Amino acid sequence: MTNRQRLGIHTMTLKSWSLQETCAALAAAEVPAITLWRQAIEPVGVDLARQLVEDAGLRVTSLCRGGFFPAATEQGRQDAIDENRRVIDEAAAVGAPAVVLVCGAVPGQSLQTSRAQIQDGIAAVLPHAKACGVNLSIEPLHPIYAADRSAVNTMAQARRMCEQLNGENETQVGIAADVYHIWFDDALEQEILLSGKAGWLHAFHICDWKVEQSDPLQDRGLMGEGVIDIRQIYQWMSAAGYTGDIEVEIFSSHHWAKDPNLFLQEILTAYDECL
Ligand code: ZN
Repeated sequence: MTNRQRLGIHTMTLKSWSLQETCAALAAAEVPAITLWRQAIEPVGVDLARQLVEDAGLRVTSLCRGGFFPAATEQGRQDAIDENRRVIDEAAAVGAPAVVLVCGAVPGQSLQTSRAQIQDGIAAVLPHAKACGVNLSIEPLHPIYAADRSAVNTMAQARRMCEQLNGENETQVGIAADVYHIWFDDALEQEILLSGKAGWLHAFHICDWKVEQSDPLQDRGLMGEGVIDIRQIYQWMSAAGYTGDIEVEIFSSHHWAKDPNLFLQEILTAYDECL
């Protein structure tokens, strides 16, 4: 496959468009894949969302997102497990092969405790994911988010959870590798290779890390605007056997403010140049 045949765009990247508008625009631009943010599905419901995606000829890369397993109370952790089962149902209904997990963290609770709760939470929903044929993709987040969004902050931590949770030769639990969250890791090449050999590289997300960021959540760069050597990480993913979609995931109030048609064109150009 050429790289363009592997291109996926996250609905959040083009968030000023409705799901209908995004599907139509991606089809017109010959973008073959889409990742669905749950909020993009909500206004239309899963059945119509699936129809829109299929009518546009799009492949669904993942449903985003499940996770947020840690909680201060037993009830809170159970609620998270119940919610993740619903997310898995939604993924199956919309035709997504995987759910991306933003694993969660509780401010003030130790990261070790949160990690144990994450592992227990994934273990609790794993039988349901298997029954539905939906993969679970742990997305390690940059440590800037360790306090409240994810206690899983490196590829190595995610890999160790995959080791604990998967049976022998199983790949149901894997990793969504996002350059924004992992680019600085001195063990990155090695970790990508280890996870790739095990079959645990589920997804590859790209954007860029701007040196000056006005907001840790919504000021990600378009590929080429920052400092990440995306081509190098792409080569490591390829060497590790990853052949799946390459997903552009850009949360950026700066880019969202412009005409999404223009932004989509910029994404296509930047995508071709960065790989
Ligand atoms: Zn991501």
